[in-house]
Parts: sequence; structure tokens; C-alpha cells
Amino acid sequence: MDHARNVLVRAIKNLKVNNEHQAYIGLGSNLDKPIQQVSSAIEELAQLTASKLEQTSQLYRSHPMGPQDQPDYINAVVLISTGLEPQVLLSELQQLEKKHGRVRKGEQWGPRTLDLDILLYDDLILNKPDLVIPHPGLHQRAFVLYPLSDITPELDIPGRGKLSELLQNIPATGLERISA
Ligand code: AMP
Repeated sequence: MDHARNVLVRAIKNLKVNNEHQAYIGLGSNLDKPIQQVSSAIEELAQLTASKLEQTSQLYRSHPMGPQDQPDYINAVVLISTGLEPQVLLSELQQLEKKHGRVRKGEQWGPRTLDLDILLYDDLILNKPDLVIPHPGLHQRAFVLYPLSDITPELDIPGRGKLSELLQNIPATGLERISA
């Protein structure tokens, strides 16, 4: 079964990707060697079906949101071009999270080996029960906005305005740029 899936995935990757979309993916980890979790997830995103890794932000260390009795996070953002529709992309990302041993305990903002979020998908605004784009809260989070700005400082966030203007109200307090 795995073999059949791998053959299929390779075949799809080799197809010319038509109708490419631009998606920004947010990565976060605060368990089990977070820098390695994020770095290897970026390599895996580079292998994503019908997609190409276009750009990667710096890595950042940030203080946890919500419960404070958990380790700091490592965060990054990547830009991919993709032929995957948003729901398919979400399910691919969730498979990657599982591969990294992510266990969902239903706790909001609890510790995690790997968190992958679709931050933006073209200029799409989507409000489905299981998928909200732009990702909710992204416009208020330093650990998302600063890495986004590494990639596309002139970005316009649908429904939220210019990234450069959002950044003026979001201090980088508690956010540390690190070299991997
Ligand atoms: P979290 O615990 O932060 O990983 O949240 C996971 C849940 O958020 C999943 O069940 C997703 O269906 C949902 N979700 C809603 N919008 C998004 C998005 N833009 N990217 C990733 N997950 C999303």
C-alpha cells in the first residue's frame, strides 16, 4: 500500500503543475528538539505532492501563547507554490504533523512536536468549520508576521491590510531570530 502510494506521489510530482497557487505555511514546534523538527519539516514540505518550496524565512524562538508552563517555540514560515486545493493541502499537512508524532490532546495552545498552519492561500478568504484562511490570529502574532516579512515584506493580507502596517503595531518582544 505504501509502495503504491509512493509510486502515485512520484507520478503526480513529475506532472507539470498547472494552475499553481501560492501558499504560506506556518511551522511551530516546542517538543523533542524543536529546531530539528522544524528543519526536517521544511525538507518534507519541499517534497510535498504537486508543490514546490519557493522560500523559507529565518527560524525564530518565541515564548508560548496560553499556558506558560511549556518550553519556548521554534517558528518559521515557508512559501510554496502548489497545485493542491486548500482542503487537500490541509490534509497533507496534518499527515506530516502525525509523522512527527503530534498527539492532539484537545488542549488549545498546548505543547506540540509540530504544528503546520495554512496562513495564506493566494488572496483567498475562506471560512469553513475545519479551515479558516487567512489563518485566524495571524495578523496579531509576532512569530508569524516577522517570518512572513522575511519572505514578502510588501505582502497584503486579505481582509487585514498591509503586512508592513500590521508590524508597526506588533512589537517583536520575546521573539528571537536564531540561526539554525
Ligand atoms: P491546531 O491545534 O492549532 O493545530 O489546530 C488544528 C485545527 O485547526 C485543525 O483541526 C484544522 O482543521 C483547523 N484549522 C482551521 N484553519 C486552519 C488553517 N488555516 N491551517 C491549519 N489548520 C486549520
